[in-house]
Amino acid sequence: MPPFLRDPMEIHTSIAEIREQVSRYREQGQSVGFVPTMGALHEGHLSLFRLAAEKADRVVASIYVNPEQFAPDEDYETYPRDLEGDMEKAGNNGVDTIFAPDDRVMYGERNYLSIEIEELNRHMDGGSRPGFFEGILLVVNKLFNIVQPDLAVFGQKDLQQFRILEQMVREFNHPVELHMGPIIRAGDGLALSSRNAYLDDGQRALAPSLYRSLRYVARQIRGGVREPGLLLEHQKSELQAKGFEIDYLNLFDYGKMHPVKKAESGRKYILAGAVYLGETRLIDNMILEIDS
Ligand code: AMP
Repeated sequence: MPPFLRDPMEIHTSIAEIREQVSRYREQGQSVGFVPTMGALHEGHLSLFRLAAEKADRVVASIYVNPEQFAPDEDYETYPRDLEGDMEKAGNNGVDTIFAPDDRVMYGERNYLSIEIEELNRHMDGGSRPGFFEGILLVVNKLFNIVQPDLAVFGQKDLQQFRILEQMVREFNHPVELHMGPIIRAGDGLALSSRNAYLDDGQRALAPSLYRSLRYVARQIRGGVREPGLLLEHQKSELQAKGFEIDYLNLFDYGKMHPVKKAESGRKYILAGAVYLGETRLIDNMILEIDS
Protein backbone atom coordinates (compact mmCIF):
# COMPACT_ATOMS: atom_id res chain seq x y z
CA MET A 1 0.00 0.00 0.00
CA PRO A 2 1.52 3.41 -0.89
CA PRO A 3 2.46 5.37 2.26
CA PHE A 4 -0.12 8.13 1.64
CA LEU A 5 -2.92 5.56 1.75
CA ARG A 6 -1.88 4.08 5.09
CA ASP A 7 -4.45 4.23 7.86
CA PRO A 8 -3.51 6.36 10.89
CA MET A 9 -1.52 4.43 13.49
CA GLU A 10 -3.55 2.61 16.15
CA ILE A 11 -2.57 2.21 19.79
CA HIS A 12 -4.06 -0.52 21.94
CA THR A 13 -3.54 -1.26 25.59
CA SER A 14 -5.72 -4.34 26.10
CA ILE A 15 -5.24 -7.88 24.86
CA ALA A 16 -8.77 -8.04 23.43
CA GLU A 17 -8.21 -4.88 21.36
CA ILE A 18 -4.87 -5.89 19.89
CA ARG A 19 -6.24 -9.34 19.04
CA GLU A 20 -9.23 -7.76 17.29
CA GLN A 21 -6.94 -5.48 15.34
CA VAL A 22 -4.71 -8.35 14.24
CA SER A 23 -7.81 -10.40 13.30
CA ARG A 24 -8.95 -7.52 11.09
CA TYR A 25 -5.60 -7.58 9.29
CA ARG A 26 -5.90 -11.33 8.82
CA GLU A 27 -9.46 -11.05 7.49
CA GLN A 28 -8.07 -8.70 4.83
CA GLY A 29 -5.50 -11.37 3.96
CA GLN A 30 -2.62 -9.30 5.37
CA SER A 31 0.46 -10.78 7.02
CA VAL A 32 1.59 -9.37 10.38
CA GLY A 33 5.15 -8.52 11.41
CA PHE A 34 5.90 -7.82 15.07
CA VAL A 35 8.68 -5.82 16.74
CA PRO A 36 8.80 -5.98 20.55
CA THR A 37 10.53 -3.03 22.23
CA MET A 38 10.84 -1.34 25.60
CA GLY A 39 10.29 2.08 24.01
CA ALA A 40 12.61 5.12 24.21
CA LEU A 41 12.85 4.47 20.50
CA HIS A 42 15.99 5.28 18.53
CA GLU A 43 17.15 4.60 14.98
CA GLY A 44 18.02 0.97 15.92
CA HIS A 45 14.37 0.24 16.74
CA LEU A 46 13.15 2.23 13.73
CA SER A 47 15.34 0.16 11.40
CA LEU A 48 13.61 -2.97 12.74
CA PHE A 49 10.18 -1.43 12.05
CA ARG A 50 11.20 -0.68 8.49
CA LEU A 51 12.57 -4.20 8.06
CA ALA A 52 9.30 -5.65 9.37
CA ALA A 53 7.36 -3.40 6.96
CA GLU A 54 9.40 -4.80 4.06
CA LYS A 55 8.63 -8.36 5.09
CA ALA A 56 4.98 -8.13 6.20
CA ASP A 57 1.85 -6.24 5.09
CA ARG A 58 1.22 -4.85 8.59
CA VAL A 59 3.57 -4.01 11.45
CA VAL A 60 2.69 -4.24 15.13
CA ALA A 61 5.23 -2.86 17.63
CA SER A 62 4.96 -3.38 21.36
CA ILE A 63 6.19 -0.85 23.87
CA TYR A 64 6.49 -2.37 27.30
CA VAL A 65 9.20 -2.02 29.95
CA ASN A 66 9.13 -5.58 31.23
CA PRO A 67 9.81 -5.66 34.99
CA GLU A 68 10.57 -9.40 34.83
CA GLN A 69 13.85 -8.82 33.00
CA PHE A 70 15.29 -6.32 35.49
CA ALA A 71 17.16 -7.44 38.61
CA PRO A 72 16.29 -5.53 41.81
CA ASP A 73 19.52 -3.48 41.57
CA GLU A 74 18.98 -2.57 37.90
CA ASP A 75 17.42 0.49 36.26
CA TYR A 76 13.73 -0.51 35.93
CA GLU A 77 12.49 2.64 37.69
CA THR A 78 14.71 5.05 35.77
CA TYR A 79 14.54 3.34 32.34
CA PRO A 80 13.70 6.13 29.84
CA ARG A 81 10.00 6.29 28.90
CA ASP A 82 8.50 8.54 26.20
CA LEU A 83 5.28 7.09 24.80
CA GLU A 84 4.27 10.21 22.88
CA GLY A 85 7.62 10.64 21.17
CA ASP A 86 7.70 6.89 20.48
CA MET A 87 4.28 6.96 18.81
CA GLU A 88 5.36 9.63 16.39
CA LYS A 89 8.61 7.85 15.50
CA ALA A 90 6.86 4.49 15.10
CA GLY A 91 4.11 5.98 12.90
CA ASN A 92 6.72 7.56 10.63
CA ASN A 93 8.63 4.29 10.22
CA GLY A 94 6.08 1.77 9.06
CA VAL A 95 4.29 0.81 12.28
CA ASP A 96 0.52 0.36 11.88
CA THR A 97 -0.35 -0.55 15.44
CA ILE A 98 1.28 -0.15 18.82
CA PHE A 99 0.52 -2.49 21.68
CA ALA A 100 1.32 -0.68 24.95
CA PRO A 101 0.01 -2.77 27.84
CA ASP A 102 0.55 -2.03 31.52
CA ASP A 103 1.80 -4.53 34.09
CA ARG A 104 -1.70 -5.60 35.09
CA VAL A 105 -2.57 -6.46 31.49
CA MET A 106 0.69 -8.37 31.01
CA TYR A 107 0.96 -10.20 34.31
CA GLY A 108 -2.38 -9.91 36.11
CA GLU A 109 -2.47 -10.38 39.86
CA ARG A 110 -0.19 -13.33 40.41
CA ASN A 111 1.86 -15.67 38.20
CA TYR A 112 2.72 -19.24 39.04
CA LEU A 113 4.76 -20.28 36.02
CA SER A 114 8.20 -19.43 34.71
CA ILE A 115 10.54 -20.60 31.96
CA GLU A 116 13.96 -22.09 32.68
CA ILE A 117 16.90 -21.91 30.34
CA GLU A 118 19.76 -24.38 30.30
CA GLU A 119 23.27 -23.73 29.06
CA LEU A 120 22.48 -21.01 26.51
CA ASN A 121 22.40 -18.31 29.20
CA ARG A 122 25.46 -19.47 31.18
CA HIS A 123 27.85 -16.93 29.63
CA MET A 124 27.75 -13.48 28.04
CA ASP A 125 24.85 -11.38 29.39
CA GLY A 126 23.13 -14.42 30.85
CA GLY A 127 26.21 -15.08 32.98
CA SER A 128 26.20 -11.56 34.43
CA ARG A 129 22.46 -10.95 34.66
CA PRO A 130 20.75 -13.86 36.43
CA GLY A 131 17.07 -14.13 35.47
CA PHE A 132 17.45 -11.69 32.56
CA PHE A 133 16.79 -14.09 29.70
CA GLU A 134 14.15 -15.99 31.67
CA GLY A 135 12.30 -12.66 31.98
CA ILE A 136 12.69 -11.98 28.26
CA LEU A 137 11.50 -15.45 27.25
CA LEU A 138 8.49 -15.10 29.51
CA VAL A 139 7.42 -11.76 28.06
CA VAL A 140 8.14 -12.63 24.41
CA ASN A 141 6.33 -15.93 24.83
CA LYS A 142 3.31 -14.01 26.14
CA LEU A 143 3.58 -11.32 23.46
CA PHE A 144 3.75 -13.94 20.69
CA ASN A 145 0.61 -15.59 22.09
CA ILE A 146 -1.17 -12.25 22.38
CA VAL A 147 -0.23 -10.76 19.00
CA GLN A 148 0.12 -14.02 17.05
CA PRO A 149 2.33 -12.51 14.34
CA ASP A 150 3.60 -14.28 11.22
CA LEU A 151 7.08 -12.94 11.74
CA ALA A 152 9.01 -11.01 14.36
CA VAL A 153 12.12 -8.87 14.06
CA PHE A 154 14.84 -8.50 16.70
CA GLY A 155 18.21 -6.74 16.63
CA GLN A 156 21.68 -8.27 16.44
CA LYS A 157 22.57 -5.77 19.17
CA ASP A 158 21.11 -8.35 21.59
CA LEU A 159 22.49 -11.40 19.84
CA GLN A 160 22.26 -13.79 22.78
CA GLN A 161 18.60 -12.79 23.12
CA PHE A 162 18.03 -13.59 19.44
CA ARG A 163 19.76 -16.98 19.72
CA ILE A 164 17.74 -17.96 22.81
CA LEU A 165 14.50 -16.79 21.17
CA GLU A 166 15.31 -18.92 18.12
CA GLN A 167 15.51 -21.87 20.48
CA MET A 168 12.23 -20.89 22.14
CA VAL A 169 10.43 -20.69 18.79
CA ARG A 170 11.80 -24.14 17.91
CA GLU A 171 11.11 -25.85 21.24
CA PHE A 172 7.72 -24.25 21.96
CA ASN A 173 6.58 -24.51 18.33
CA HIS A 174 5.65 -20.87 17.90
CA PRO A 175 4.44 -20.40 14.30
CA VAL A 176 6.57 -17.26 14.01
CA GLU A 177 9.45 -16.65 11.63
CA LEU A 178 12.30 -14.74 13.29
CA HIS A 179 14.39 -12.16 11.48
CA MET A 180 17.48 -10.35 12.73
CA GLY A 181 18.24 -6.70 11.89
CA PRO A 182 21.85 -5.41 11.87
CA ILE A 183 23.26 -3.23 14.65
CA ILE A 184 22.64 0.46 13.97
CA ARG A 185 25.47 2.69 15.18
CA ALA A 186 26.13 6.37 15.73
CA GLY A 187 28.62 7.97 13.31
CA ASP A 188 31.48 7.23 15.73
CA GLY A 189 30.61 3.53 15.93
CA LEU A 190 28.74 3.42 19.25
CA ALA A 191 25.85 0.94 19.02
CA LEU A 192 22.63 2.88 19.58
CA SER A 193 20.87 2.03 22.84
CA SER A 194 18.14 3.62 24.93
CA ARG A 195 20.63 3.48 27.82
CA ASN A 196 23.10 5.75 25.98
CA ALA A 197 20.91 8.59 27.29
CA TYR A 198 22.48 7.93 30.73
CA LEU A 199 26.00 8.83 29.50
CA ASP A 200 27.44 12.24 30.34
CA ASP A 201 29.49 14.03 27.67
CA GLY A 202 32.81 12.58 28.81
CA GLN A 203 31.43 9.05 28.94
CA ARG A 204 29.73 9.47 25.56
CA ALA A 205 33.07 10.46 24.02
CA LEU A 206 34.73 7.34 25.47
CA ALA A 207 31.90 4.92 24.69
CA PRO A 208 32.86 4.02 21.06
CA SER A 209 36.10 2.46 22.36
CA LEU A 210 34.24 -0.80 23.00
CA TYR A 211 33.39 -1.12 19.31
CA ARG A 212 36.93 -0.11 18.34
CA SER A 213 38.32 -2.90 20.51
CA LEU A 214 35.97 -5.45 18.98
CA ARG A 215 36.82 -4.27 15.48
CA TYR A 216 40.56 -4.47 16.18
CA VAL A 217 40.32 -8.03 17.50
CA ALA A 218 37.96 -9.05 14.66
CA ARG A 219 40.48 -7.76 12.13
CA GLN A 220 43.27 -9.78 13.73
CA ILE A 221 41.14 -12.94 13.75
CA ARG A 222 40.11 -12.43 10.14
CA GLY A 223 43.77 -11.83 9.34
CA GLY A 224 44.71 -15.26 10.68
CA VAL A 225 45.10 -15.01 14.48
CA ARG A 226 43.36 -18.11 15.80
CA GLU A 227 43.95 -17.75 19.54
CA PRO A 228 42.91 -14.20 20.42
CA GLY A 229 43.28 -14.58 24.22
CA LEU A 230 46.27 -12.26 24.63
CA LEU A 231 44.80 -9.69 22.25
CA LEU A 232 41.58 -9.67 24.24
CA GLU A 233 43.45 -9.27 27.54
CA HIS A 234 45.36 -6.35 26.06
CA GLN A 235 42.16 -4.68 24.85
CA LYS A 236 40.58 -5.16 28.28
CA SER A 237 43.55 -3.47 29.96
CA GLU A 238 43.35 -0.56 27.52
CA LEU A 239 39.63 -0.12 28.14
CA GLN A 240 40.16 -0.32 31.90
CA ALA A 241 42.88 2.31 31.68
CA LYS A 242 40.38 4.60 29.94
CA GLY A 243 37.87 4.18 32.78
CA PHE A 244 35.71 1.26 31.67
CA GLU A 245 34.84 -1.55 34.01
CA ILE A 246 34.87 -4.81 32.06
CA ASP A 247 32.11 -7.34 32.45
CA TYR A 248 33.33 -9.56 29.60
CA LEU A 249 35.20 -9.24 26.32
CA ASN A 250 35.57 -12.57 24.64
CA LEU A 251 35.11 -14.87 21.68
CA PHE A 252 32.11 -17.20 21.99
CA ASP A 253 30.93 -20.17 20.00
CA TYR A 254 27.83 -19.20 17.97
CA GLY A 255 25.89 -22.38 18.82
CA LYS A 256 25.91 -22.62 22.61
CA MET A 257 27.53 -19.24 23.30
CA HIS A 258 30.37 -20.68 25.40
CA PRO A 259 33.69 -18.83 25.49
CA VAL A 260 36.29 -20.37 23.18
CA LYS A 261 40.07 -20.06 23.21
CA LYS A 262 40.61 -20.93 19.58
CA ALA A 263 38.78 -20.01 16.37
CA GLU A 264 38.57 -22.93 13.98
CA SER A 265 38.14 -22.90 10.22
CA GLY A 266 34.61 -23.23 8.89
CA ARG A 267 32.98 -22.24 12.17
CA LYS A 268 30.92 -19.27 13.32
CA TYR A 269 31.69 -17.17 16.40
CA ILE A 270 30.44 -14.20 18.35
CA LEU A 271 32.99 -11.62 19.39
CA ALA A 272 31.21 -9.74 22.16
CA GLY A 273 31.78 -7.34 24.99
CA ALA A 274 29.90 -5.77 27.88
CA VAL A 275 31.38 -2.89 29.87
CA TYR A 276 30.31 -0.34 32.40
CA LEU A 277 30.93 3.39 32.13
CA GLY A 278 29.91 4.53 35.58
CA GLU A 279 26.55 2.84 36.18
CA THR A 280 25.76 2.46 32.49
CA ARG A 281 26.13 -0.94 30.90
CA LEU A 282 27.11 -1.01 27.23
CA ILE A 283 27.08 -4.12 25.05
CA ASP A 284 28.25 -4.79 21.52
CA ASN A 285 29.10 -7.73 19.30
CA MET A 286 30.25 -8.90 15.91
CA ILE A 287 29.55 -12.20 14.15
CA LEU A 288 32.67 -13.86 12.73
CA GLU A 289 32.66 -16.67 10.22
CA ILE A 290 36.07 -18.23 9.82
CA ASP A 291 36.82 -19.34 6.24
CA SER A 292 37.58 -23.01 5.79
P1 AMP B 1 14.86 -2.86 23.57
O1 AMP B 1 13.88 -1.75 23.45
O2 AMP B 1 16.20 -2.45 24.08
O3 AMP B 1 14.28 -4.07 24.26
O4 AMP B 1 15.15 -3.34 22.10
C1 AMP B 1 14.11 -3.73 21.23
C2 AMP B 1 14.71 -4.33 19.98
O5 AMP B 1 15.54 -3.38 19.34
C3 AMP B 1 15.60 -5.56 20.28
O6 AMP B 1 15.37 -6.54 19.30
C4 AMP B 1 16.98 -4.99 20.18
O7 AMP B 1 17.95 -5.94 19.80
C5 AMP B 1 16.79 -3.95 19.07
N1 AMP B 1 17.86 -2.95 19.10
C6 AMP B 1 18.27 -2.21 20.17
N2 AMP B 1 19.31 -1.42 19.82
C7 AMP B 1 19.55 -1.66 18.50
C8 AMP B 1 20.51 -1.18 17.56
N3 AMP B 1 21.43 -0.27 17.90
N4 AMP B 1 20.47 -1.66 16.30
C9 AMP B 1 19.54 -2.59 15.95
N5 AMP B 1 18.62 -3.09 16.78
C10 AMP B 1 18.63 -2.64 18.04
